[in-house]
Amino acid sequence: MDHLSPQLMTSLPEPEHLILDLQSFGLRLNDLNAGVAARKGGAGPTDHKAITIGDRTVMVPVYTGAAKYSPFEATGPALDGSAILLRDGAPIAKIKYPRQARFYSLQTFDGLPYWKIAQLHSHDVLATTVLQNCIRYTDRATSCQFCAIGQSLAENRTIAHKTPEQLGEVARAAVLLDGVKHMVLTTGTPNVIDRGAAVLCETARGIKAAIDIPIQAQCEPPRDHGWFAKLRDAGVDTLGMHLEAVTPEVRARIMPGKATVSLERYYDAFEASVKIFGRGQVSTYILAGLGDTAEAILEACERLVAIGVYPFVVPFVPVSGTPLANAPAPTPEFMRSILPAIGRMVAGARIRSADIKAGCGKCGACSALASYEVA
Ligand code: SF4
Repeated sequence: MDHLSPQLMTSLPEPEHLILDLQSFGLRLNDLNAGVAARKGGAGPTDHKAITIGDRTVMVPVYTGAAKYSPFEATGPALDGSAILLRDGAPIAKIKYPRQARFYSLQTFDGLPYWKIAQLHSHDVLATTVLQNCIRYTDRATSCQFCAIGQSLAENRTIAHKTPEQLGEVARAAVLLDGVKHMVLTTGTPNVIDRGAAVLCETARGIKAAIDIPIQAQCEPPRDHGWFAKLRDAGVDTLGMHLEAVTPEVRARIMPGKATVSLERYYDAFEASVKIFGRGQVSTYILAGLGDTAEAILEACERLVAIGVYPFVVPFVPVSGTPLANAPAPTPEFMRSILPAIGRMVAGARIRSADIKAGCGKCGACSALASYEVA
């Protein structure tokens, strides 16, 4: 970390604790336009901003209700993109805002801006939601309470279906102009049969025809495990199947539609997919703070790690416009009660973030977990 003065260094928290605190409390920004545009709405975690602390780029909530009252504040960027991070008004570190992606200024021949097709996450990840619709989203009785997949579409900040050709074109530009290193393909769930695997196959094939970039595909477990080999053969390097919550009660309350795919089906799919993609190349997203206890999360992580699945545990961020907009984020104490133990677990099993070929687990920007991965 680039510290400000020797006096301040003595009182600074370890970088992993600082990241953890920032992601729990959020950040007040003097200049919301600094660096890469903050992600607002969309699938999965959102309402974040990318900032770089030392050599780690992390996503920090900036648009959430809680962020307005955070003890953390960041100044607007200096000419070199650096800024000062303050805690309770006292400067504690120098940070940087990753620069806006160059590919954002390009558009397709028919005038569609590239940023509506895929977005830069962190500083070197290209991410897209291939299908911006989900069978579970339109009905609050089935939708995931934390999800904002329909917001960006309603506000014309994206398109409903990104074609393989469009994504190949954008991925090529992002690699060549911005040095993007890997790609995340997520999708709304289009049906209860392949649950998105078919469209992810066709998309991965189109991207790999345009540019050689490691790809993570994310979907619910398809009914037929034969899809895992099809995904790999189409060019998918790693797979994410996201539990989000780990106990049946919390799943039923927070994600009533997705909870109809039982935990046992997820675990069956994890075992089958690790055989195809390899240990550590299958991951799951767990949102801490939805109601699962620390013990339940740790128990689930032990089971996942034993199978060879990387448990990417992320603090839940209440997203504006969703039913959970006013729910609290997990406290730093809660995150501290699980992340160091999970870090030791994955390091001990040799399935660390750094060993993953592509995807959220490799990027790691939405959690402090990777900082704790020491055996
Ligand atoms: S961890 Fe995943 S969702 Fe978070 S910034 Fe990285 S790629 Fe995006």
